[in-house]
Amino acid sequence: MSEPVDKGTLFVISAPSGAGKTSLVAAMLERDPILCVSVSHTTRPMRPGEQDGVNYHFVERETFQSMIGQDDFLEHAEVFGNFYGTSQRWVEETLSQGKDVILEIDWQGAVQVRRLIPNCVGIFIVPPSPESLRARLTGRGQDADDVIERRLREAAEECSHALEFDYLVVNDQFDVALEELLSIVRTQRLSVERQEVRHADLLAALVSGGTAYTN
Ligand code: GDP
Ligand code: ADP
Ligand code: 5GP
Repeated sequence: MSEPVDKGTLFVISAPSGAGKTSLVAAMLERDPILCVSVSHTTRPMRPGEQDGVNYHFVERETFQSMIGQDDFLEHAEVFGNFYGTSQRWVEETLSQGKDVILEIDWQGAVQVRRLIPNCVGIFIVPPSPESLRARLTGRGQDADDVIERRLREAAEECSHALEFDYLVVNDQFDVALEELLSIVRTQRLSVERQEVRHADLLAALVSGGTAYTN
């Protein structure tokens, strides 16, 4: 029998556009070296300041369609009129290296991932009020007015799926929300599912009364 491997945990983070998930995830990565974020493929136009391969892999619609045909995506969805998808191979390889992986995806993608990877952990982020969502989307200053209006209209639909997730974080004060997200990640690492692999020798020694401890 092969040794059990300490595979990473997959965290699926969703939120209405403007709730702060991209800023929060970036701050989580700075604080936690074992966390990685999946860089999605998208057909959306690049925003000022975005970089190909960093924020997204920006691709044409034809390329995206042929990637669907080749089964390259763990999940994919149409959001606000653009296509977004998560690379299956990258996610599998990174989890098998024992790293925890974050997907920043919409609720439709979250449904697909939960079906394929039932032990993933779903986190939904909300703003403290509808008004703050508008203020943040406008304040970000990166989307045209009609795009902002569309995102605000679709926020209600995204939020109607909040209760399908495992955790709910309110992003009122940024630093508080950040600590809450990091504590979800740390708690998950202490689950018996993860710890039984990491501490197999210790548990064997304790169970055998001290005769089987190899470390
Ligand atoms: P922002 O997250 O509001 O800054 O806006 P984006 O344009 O970056 O993302 C638009 C929507 O697409 C959001 O709801 C994301 O969660 C979603 N999204 C991004 N990447 C993916 C992906 O790989 N798969 C899916 N299903 N949704 C994605
Ligand atoms: P999302 O990725 O969910 O669309 P962003 O991370 O781009 O959201 O955040 C939207 C805007 O709101 C950004 O300008 C960001 O700086 C701001 N923001 C994020 N969190 C907070 C917060 N707790 N308080 C005030 N502004 C915030
Ligand atoms: P934005 O265009 O503002 O970067 O992202 C808009 C929305 O697309 C966000 O809600 C984001 O979560 C979602 N999104 C980004 N990448 C993916 C992806 O790979 N899959 C899915 N399903 N949604 C994504």
